[in-house]
Amino acid sequence: MKISSTTCPLCETDYEQSVESEYVYGGKEIQNYIYCKNCDLYYITPKPSEEELQEFYINNFEDFMDKRSGTDSNWKEEKVHFEIQKREAQRRMPFLLSAIKKNISVLEVGASTGFMLNAIKEAEPNVMLYALEPSKQFSSYLEKLGFECYRKFEEIAQEKKFDLIIHFFVIAHVHNFESFLLNYLSKLNKGGQMIFETPSATDALYQVYDIPEFKKFYWQVAHLVTFTNKSMKYLLDKHHLKYEIIPHQRYDLSNHMVWMQNGKPGGREKYKEIFSNNLEIEYRKSLEEKWHCDSMIVKIYR
Ligand SMILES: [Zn+2]
Repeated sequence: MKISSTTCPLCETDYEQSVESEYVYGGKEIQNYIYCKNCDLYYITPKPSEEELQEFYINNFEDFMDKRSGTDSNWKEEKVHFEIQKREAQRRMPFLLSAIKKNISVLEVGASTGFMLNAIKEAEPNVMLYALEPSKQFSSYLEKLGFECYRKFEEIAQEKKFDLIIHFFVIAHVHNFESFLLNYLSKLNKGGQMIFETPSATDALYQVYDIPEFKKFYWQVAHLVTFTNKSMKYLLDKHHLKYEIIPHQRYDLSNHMVWMQNGKPGGREKYKEIFSNNLEIEYRKSLEEKWHCDSMIVKIYR
């Protein structure tokens, strides 16, 4: 274990910091991924500047994701992406349903091609939907679909508030996760909720099966921080929030088998003819119960 002299961006401790990975996928030679033993946060160092990130999310994110996802998704053609992402919407909707009510206003931060907002509209047509999306490609697509679309937080009128704010796989990407969280929480109406999803570093592929190729893939330049249930709790307690953290497994058993066999992503549903639906459900449940899942859903109540 190599000691790092960095300071943790969450608990601000400057001891008990160690180098988790010297290799960062898509990163620069000098970048490392650091683990803070005190609060259980993983973070990149040195982190990209705010300007570099802005440029990346306005112009290049779809390219980066397209290469990374291989055949599993399509980030180049909005329409194809939208269709494929319907699967994601189906997965996420159960976590949102109790918060979706008639006449509420919903803001999605990082709305991508609008597939989540669309699924919400299908569940409850009488809602006011707002999108925030910095990407040039996706924001013009959202406007074409008829959504009101902000490009950044500062564009939201000061008095404007929402009943439900959602963001999926955004908080790990932003320059300052703490001010991001607090900024958007300040935009919640009383009685409102924020619901979001972010990867969990407790991922069985990483912490249980210990696959070297996965390690090289996992610590990526687009994620400036990676939480576990412990570090997420630390963040939310630090700001005295009322919350719930739900363990969640996204990827299926076939994907895990292919990682173990070939050291590559993209095996989703490969063995679906052999594995029963029950096996998949039980496998996911086991990982979630033991907190060896790859993701977490967080609900914050105001
Ligand atoms: Zn820390």
